[in-house]
Amino acid sequence: MKRIMKNKFFWLFLVVLFALPVLPHPIHVPEYWVTLLNYIGLYSIVAIGLVLLTGIGGMTSFGQAAFVGIGAYATAYLTTTYGVSPWLALIAGVVVTALIALMLGLVTMRLSGHFLPLGTIAWGLALFYLFGNLEMLGKYDGINGIPVLNVFGINLESGRHIYYLIWVVVLGAVISVQNLLNSRPGRAIRALRGGGMMAEAMGVNTAWMRVVIFVYAAVLASISGFLYAHLQRAVNPTPFGLNHGIEFLFMAVVGGVSHVWGAVLGAAILTILQDYLQTLLPKLLGENGNFEVIVFGILMVLLLQYARQGVWPFVARFFPKGPRAHLSDHAEPLPQRSKPAAGEDLLTVNKARKQFGGLVAVNDVSFEVKAGQIIGLIGPNGAGKSTTFNLVTGVLQATSGEITFRGERIDSLSSREIVKRGIGRTFQHVKMLPGMTVLENVAIGAHLRGQAGVWRSVARLNGAEEARLMAEAARQIRRVGLEQHMYDEAGSLALGQQRILEIARALCCDPTLLLLDEPAAGLRYQEKLQLADLLRRLKAEGMSVLLVEHDMDFVMNLTDRLVVMEFGTRIAEGLPQDVQQDPAVLEAYLGGVE
Ligand code: ADP
Ligand code: MG
Repeated sequence: MKRIMKNKFFWLFLVVLFALPVLPHPIHVPEYWVTLLNYIGLYSIVAIGLVLLTGIGGMTSFGQAAFVGIGAYATAYLTTTYGVSPWLALIAGVVVTALIALMLGLVTMRLSGHFLPLGTIAWGLALFYLFGNLEMLGKYDGINGIPVLNVFGINLESGRHIYYLIWVVVLGAVISVQNLLNSRPGRAIRALRGGGMMAEAMGVNTAWMRVVIFVYAAVLASISGFLYAHLQRAVNPTPFGLNHGIEFLFMAVVGGVSHVWGAVLGAAILTILQDYLQTLLPKLLGENGNFEVIVFGILMVLLLQYARQGVWPFVARFFPKGPRAHLSDHAEPLPQRSKPAAGEDLLTVNKARKQFGGLVAVNDVSFEVKAGQIIGLIGPNGAGKSTTFNLVTGVLQATSGEITFRGERIDSLSSREIVKRGIGRTFQHVKMLPGMTVLENVAIGAHLRGQAGVWRSVARLNGAEEARLMAEAARQIRRVGLEQHMYDEAGSLALGQQRILEIARALCCDPTLLLLDEPAAGLRYQEKLQLADLLRRLKAEGMSVLLVEHDMDFVMNLTDRLVVMEFGTRIAEGLPQDVQQDPAVLEAYLGGVE
């Protein structure tokens, strides 16, 4: 937000936006364009919700038009039948939308893959037919005679007047979503992409986060519907059908599905194009019909082929980026959990077993990690190391056996519960958000150390906490030595640095035990040395580490003890130099090569 306020292009945009309807004669904007701009505004509000839901949260919805309908019908019905004030009707519409979205969300947001878009099509159709078949909503004729809105004594009867209300709401929607995205829940939302496994491991309740953005997008759609009803002063089911749900999705995709301003751009492009094609195409073809849909379809395919990010990135190039928000040096440090004394029992794995059908991936494996140690879990590919790792981190549930952490059984807990207890982890295949800065990526790790939810973040009442979370992320970035890359996009880092970023993110969880899955895999020699150095430094600071590793040389001079697995079974355990001499280990590792 601060960034946008300092952007002179934004102010120029605002001045043009608000001067448009009142420009004097030679440059007077005709009624026709005011109407078009009003519709662009209304559609933008819906598309902004879709950017949040689809572009950022990764969930496709074809059903947003139905929520527009709920907002429109709520005010149409309440104001015409009961003479209720439109503002009360707005509140009623938003509440009803939120409740319906909450119920639909709790059911459909759990669906994965293609089932979610199918579910959205189903509710889009269902609500459309509901509008068309209810006697009290006037069936397919709809409701007429909706009153004119009145703001501070000004009647918004003309398009030029309601224009201001519509565009104030558009700006409010853009700013609220941007505020949300640059916050603790916003980072959690951005981490939903790609399945949400990483987000869960950082303590994010991903199922709930999905429902929250679904409701948020539905409420924006409902507000757009409210404005639409009072602009048209009549409603009928047609504009709330499935084809309009698809058009809203087009708008978000064309503009730039992961950019909030892209929604406004997409709404503008599609509305103007549609208007133009609706007159042009029937003339060209000599026949009436909604031919523009075909052009949109082709446009969509081309975009997906050549510009996945939509049109916004091309426009954004012409806008210099404003100064970036500075880290506060005065932020009070976050509280830390009590740390165990060196040598205390930390993690005990007792006869852990995991079967996948007939395959015993982990066969009654036992080992322990004491506070202050680096323990290596090694073995050839397919030995069951990652599966053991997943049992400890709660990604998989053990078939039998016991896992205790600081005296508490954790073998039936989810990964979200396990990170709460102080086990931070990294991933064998790096899981980060390539388009976000290193700082923001690392801050996701501090999720559980803040409380600010959606409302506080949207209203920007989270400033103090946000400063503390960011300061903590910066502290961990310095701790691992990535400070020169603090503001770089995470995707621009080399693999070795990405792995270190993941360690910084795990450290942000304030862990007492750090679990690393093959951190040295794919690294160059120099990067491996730097990584080993870092791990030694963390150990010297009192951190305990369980290191799953394939590379024997990497663990030799780094670990206190080694646990060796082969075919799911522990074949050796002890000091690295002893394990290295063990005939069973030599056999497993070298297998007659020597
Ligand atoms: P490592 O990490 O030591 O290379 P893994 O723990 O990934 O080994 O795998 C151990 C064994 O379990 C392998 O034979 C692998 O094919 C099997 N396995 C791992 N995950 C699954 C799964 N989800 N379903 C079925 N088999 C699996
Ligand atoms: Mg593995």
